[in-house]
Amino acid sequence: MRDSLEKWYGLDTPLEVINFNIGMIFFFISYVLCLSASLYLHLGRSYYYVTGLGIMLLTFFIGYAAQSGKYQLSSFAIVVLFELLIFPASYIIDGRFISFSLMYYFLGFLLTVFVQEGRLRTISYILFWVSWISSVIFSYFRLSENDFISFENVNMALDVAVPLTVCALFACSCTMASLRFYTRESEKAEESRRVADDNERSKDVFLMNMSHEIRTPMNAIMSAGEIMLSKDISDDTRMNVHHISNACRALITTLDDLLVFSDDGERNIVMQENEYETGEFLDDIINMISVRLMGMDVKFYVYIDPYIPKKLIGDMIRLRQVFINILNNAVKYTRQGHITLRVVMSDVTQEGMVLHADVTDTGIGIKEEKLPTLFDDFTRVDDDINESLKKEGSGLGLSITKSIVNACGGSIGVKSVYNKGSVFSFDIPQKIADPEPLAKIRDSRDLGVIICDDDVNMKSVLKDTLRAMKIRCTVVENSDEMNAVIKEGIYTHLFITPECLEGSCDLPSLMGANITIVMMKEVDDPNDDSGDARLVKPLSSLNIVKYFEGGHRESEETAKEAEPEERKVIVSGAKALVVEDNMTNLMVAERLLTRMGFEVSTASNGNSALSIAKVMSFDILFIDYMMTGMNGIDTLRAVRKLSSEWAKTVPCIVLTADAHEGAKQMLINAGFDDYLAKPIDMHELEYMVTRYLPGEKLIV
Ligand code: ADP
Repeated sequence: MRDSLEKWYGLDTPLEVINFNIGMIFFFISYVLCLSASLYLHLGRSYYYVTGLGIMLLTFFIGYAAQSGKYQLSSFAIVVLFELLIFPASYIIDGRFISFSLMYYFLGFLLTVFVQEGRLRTISYILFWVSWISSVIFSYFRLSENDFISFENVNMALDVAVPLTVCALFACSCTMASLRFYTRESEKAEESRRVADDNERSKDVFLMNMSHEIRTPMNAIMSAGEIMLSKDISDDTRMNVHHISNACRALITTLDDLLVFSDDGERNIVMQENEYETGEFLDDIINMISVRLMGMDVKFYVYIDPYIPKKLIGDMIRLRQVFINILNNAVKYTRQGHITLRVVMSDVTQEGMVLHADVTDTGIGIKEEKLPTLFDDFTRVDDDINESLKKEGSGLGLSITKSIVNACGGSIGVKSVYNKGSVFSFDIPQKIADPEPLAKIRDSRDLGVIICDDDVNMKSVLKDTLRAMKIRCTVVENSDEMNAVIKEGIYTHLFITPECLEGSCDLPSLMGANITIVMMKEVDDPNDDSGDARLVKPLSSLNIVKYFEGGHRESEETAKEAEPEERKVIVSGAKALVVEDNMTNLMVAERLLTRMGFEVSTASNGNSALSIAKVMSFDILFIDYMMTGMNGIDTLRAVRKLSSEWAKTVPCIVLTADAHEGAKQMLINAGFDDYLAKPIDMHELEYMVTRYLPGEKLIV
C-alpha cells in the first residue's frame, strides 16, 4: 500500500505524473457527481450515454498512460476528448453555458496547465479557444434568448457550487503538489551548494597545507644556500649553490602559479612593489634557461640594452614568473635552432620606463587559427607534436602570464609561423629606483673588439651589444682578415671561439700580438687556460660589463667575496624573538638575524615564547603561523595580553608558508603587522627589519 502510494505521489515520482494522477481522481469524482445528478434529475438517456462514453475513454487513457508512461500524450488525448466531444455534447444537450459542461471545460484546461508541456500544450490551448468560440456562435444562432442564460432553471448547488468546488480543489491539489516538489528541489539545490562549499573549503585547506609542506623544506634549502654564499667557498661550489637556489625559486614560481590559479575566476593577483637590481634579476633568468638548454641542440642568444636602469621598482617575483614562463615554453617547444631573448626599454620618463622583451624561437610554431585562444586557461595547441612534448605542461602558463602582465598594466602578444617558430613579446611598466645604466663602461672609447665566431647569429647579437655599449668592434671571417685588422692597432681585444681558434688561427702568433684574447666558451671550464680570459655564453651586456669593469676572474672572485658586504642592514642593540616549531627553520632564521646584528632568542612553541616574553622585552617578534599546540595567532594574542607595555606595541611579523593571498590577509586581520613568506628571502627579511625596527637601532 505504502509502496503504491509512494509510486503514485512520492517525491521521486515526476511532477507531471503526480498532477496527472490528481487530475484523474477529480475527473472520476466529477463523473460520479454528473451521473448521480443526471439520475436524480432524470435528465434522459443522451446524458447517460455521454457520461458512460466519457468514463470508458477516461479509463482507457489512464490505463494507457500507466502502461506506456506516456502521460503527456494521454493527457492530451483526454483534453481532445473533452473539448471536442464531451464538452460540446453536454453543452448541446444542456443548452446552456453553465452547469457541468463548464466543469468539463475547466478540468481539461487545468490538466493542460499542470501536466502538459511544449507543442502539445500549445495545441491544447488552441483547441480551448476553438471549442469556446464555436460554442458561443452555436448558442447565438441556435438558442433562444431565454435558453442562453436561463437563470430560473439554474440549480445553484448542482450547477454552480459543485463544478466550481471540483475545479478549485483540483487546482489547489496540483498547486500543493508543485509546491512540495519545488521545496524538495530547492532543498536539494541548497544541499548541493553546501557540499560544493565544503569541497571548496577542503580545497583551500589542502592548498594551504601543500603550500606549507613544500615551502617549509624549501625554506631550509634556500636559507642554508644564503648562508653558504656568505662563506668563503670555491667558485664551483658557489655556482652549484646558485643553481640549487635557482631551482628552488623555479619550484616556488610553479607553486605560485598553482596558487594564482586556485583563486579561480577572479585571478586576484596582488602586485607588490620592491626595489631590485636589474642586472641580478636578468642574470638569474639567463642562468636558469642556460642550464635548461645544456645538452640540447639549441643556441641561446641574449641582447640586453645596456642603458636599462640599474635598479628598478616593481614586483620582481611576478616579473620573473613572466620571463620564465615564456622562456620555458620556448625551450619546451624548440628542438633545434635557437632562442633569442631581447630586453630593451622604452617610454622612459623621470620616474618610470617600460621594459620590453621579445623571446624568439625556431621551434614548432603555432597554427594561425590557434593564436586567438592561446592565452586562455588550459589551452594546449600542440596537437600535432610528439607525445613527449605533449606530456609537459598544463596549459595554464600563458593564461597566468597574461593575467600577471595585465595586473602590471602591461601587454603581451605573439606572432608565429607554423613549423618555423614564434615570437612572444611583452611590455611591462616599471618604476626607476636608480637611473644609472646597467652596463655602462667608463672608458669605452679606449676599447676595441674583434669578433671571430662561426655562428652568424652570435656575431650579429654581439656586434649590436658592443655597439650599444659604445665599444668599437668589427667582425672577421678568417685569419687573414683577423691579422689585417690586428695590424691596424686600434683593437684591444679579440673575442674568439675555441672552434675558430683551432680552425683558422694560430694561437702562438696571436699571443705575440698586442691584443687580449678572450675565449667565448659554451660552458665554463676552470682548468682551461687557453687565451687570456674567458667569457661564458650567452654573451650579453651583463657579462661583458663585468669583464671590462674589473670582471676578470680574479676580480670577480674579490667581488663575490665582497658579496656579504652588500648586506646593508646592520642593527645595534636590537633584540628579536623567533617562535618556530621546525628546528631547521628556527636555526636558519636565528642565523640570518644574528648576521644582521640582532640578539636573538628562540622558542619552539607558543607557551615557551610567552614564558620568555614575561621576563625579557623585544624590539621585533617573528612568529610561525602553523605551530602545533598554540598556533601563531593564539601566540600573538597571548603576547598582546601581557602586562608589559612593549608587548602591546612590539611589531609582530608572521612567518607563513602559505602564500595564498586570502591567507595573508587573514593573518593581517588577525593582528600581525606584516607577513614573511617562507622560505625566508634575505632581502625581504632586511626589508621587514628596516620597516619595523625603531630607527635608532638601525645602523644602515
Ligand atoms: P603549457 O603548460 O601547455 O606549455 P602554456 O599556457 O604555457 O601551457 O602554453 C599553451 C600552449 O601554447 C602550449 O601547449 C603550446 O601548444 C603553445 N605554445 C606556447 N609557447 C609556445 C612556443 N614558444 N612555441 C610553440 N607553441 C607554444
